[in-house]
Amino acid sequence: MNAPTPHTLLAQQDISAHLHPFTNLAAHADVGPLVITRGDGIHVIDEQGRRYIEGMSGLWCSSLGFSHPRLVAAGIEALQTLPYYHTFNHRSNPPVAQLAEKLLALAPVPMGRVFFANSGSEANDSAVKMVWYYHNAIGKPGKKKILARHKAYHGVTVAAASLSGLPTNHRDFDLPIDRISHVDCPHHYRFGLPSESEEDFATRLADALEQRILAEGPDTVAAFFAEPVMGAGGVIVPPATYFAKIQAVLRKYEVLLVADEVICGFGRTGAMFGSTTFGMQPDILTCAKALSSGYVPISAVMVSPAVHAAIAANSGKIGTFGHGYTYSGHPVACTIALETLRVYEDEHILEHVQALAPGFQARLRALGQRASVGEARGVGLIGALELVADKASRQSFAPELKAGPRLAQLAQEEGLIVRAMGDTVALCPPLIISEAELGELFARLERAFGRFE
Ligand code: PLP
Repeated sequence: MNAPTPHTLLAQQDISAHLHPFTNLAAHADVGPLVITRGDGIHVIDEQGRRYIEGMSGLWCSSLGFSHPRLVAAGIEALQTLPYYHTFNHRSNPPVAQLAEKLLALAPVPMGRVFFANSGSEANDSAVKMVWYYHNAIGKPGKKKILARHKAYHGVTVAAASLSGLPTNHRDFDLPIDRISHVDCPHHYRFGLPSESEEDFATRLADALEQRILAEGPDTVAAFFAEPVMGAGGVIVPPATYFAKIQAVLRKYEVLLVADEVICGFGRTGAMFGSTTFGMQPDILTCAKALSSGYVPISAVMVSPAVHAAIAANSGKIGTFGHGYTYSGHPVACTIALETLRVYEDEHILEHVQALAPGFQARLRALGQRASVGEARGVGLIGALELVADKASRQSFAPELKAGPRLAQLAQEEGLIVRAMGDTVALCPPLIISEAELGELFARLERAFGRFE
């Protein structure tokens, strides 16, 4: 038997000093870190020099890959020009003003203003606070409850983790907070009734939402948070009519719709925003990740003209809008985000995604024919394969078999990084991926499946 590979110095430093996010901390010393040292196009390279196709764009974010020269150059110039300044109390800087204007121009529905933060979690926490502030401002202080969905992922700060509908984000963190609760997940394959059409399933979920709002009291329900496609919950694509039906209920009871576009924003679904793909008309929209292609932390919250007007009037009464971050509108982050948006236009990234998506989805669905895949699903350049022990009955694998992580590990050995979320394995490649690279990605995944089955 081979002796285990000894940890490198970097790995030892990591094991002894670094507390990892979303990691089994008790197992970290045994498993050891995968130390990534460089990026090159759609590839990342580890400290042993092994190259991997990053089939997840890191954490759904590096849309322009890992070495785009224009983003690097923009960052260097921004650091040389103004490495930091804040935006409190009427301060501004050129990139933040330009980026805000650009985002309003790109928004899927008319928006009034853009607020900046640093992460998706902060953007969603900010949106929660804005929802509460808004309802106080319009004289409806009783409207404070927020609904999100089981299997949603909205981040990890206290409010965002409460919005998230995944048990590990709540367990032993004493979450969710009281004002936040969850409704049905729109996953037809798992939650549709036998012989129920997607259309009927969507109608049932919208009816259930209405019953829930009535039970809570319409005068107490403030907002509904939703990702267009649920990402970390397993790449769950809703039925085509789901959001139209949900929105009709929300409008009836004056409940705000907050679209969490942290994954879907900036081309992932084949439109600039997932809201366009799924017919959502949000009052508030949060985005991050591909806003800067993941090169620097930045997120944004867009608010409708009506929400902005109410917030602005209330802040006038109080004397300030008492919310914001030291790094809101950071000039280096805004410069790189602005350059990212320009690259999307100059390199016709949206058209590229639209051209590649049919082939990507067809290959994904071809893998869906395999005995171990229950459902292949996705839209644009995002997709997932749900592994099952029995295809006919949709029976899941026993949890101790760790089927998803095992397939992801085999893929990694084949030089492909994918992400296992339970037994669902996700793909979210950089949007710049070429047709040939996509072929190679699927060839590696096929090889991993060959060893898995
Ligand atoms: N919202 C969605 C849909 C996400 O996928 C994520 C992260 O994956 C977040 C919010 C949280 O973003 P962050 O990790 O930047 O706080």
